[in-house]
Amino acid sequence: MSKADIVRRGEELGVPWALTWSCYLGGAMACGVCDSCQLRLKGFREAGVKDPLTYASRRGRAANA
Ligand SMILES: [Zn+2]
Repeated sequence: MSKADIVRRGEELGVPWALTWSCYLGGAMACGVCDSCQLRLKGFREAGVKDPLTYASRRGRAANA
């Protein structure tokens, strides 16, 4: 099961994505840069789902994507 599959399944189940983030840096906001954040963003991108989370930074990605 790929990360994108997980995102698609979560969408079907109505997973509250804003509550499910994990970030290696452990800050108050997901950094958007560490491996954990990058994997999450990649999964959402591949699934064609908008990640509702606010990131401190989105490396290599438009801010409104
Ligand atoms: Zn992070």
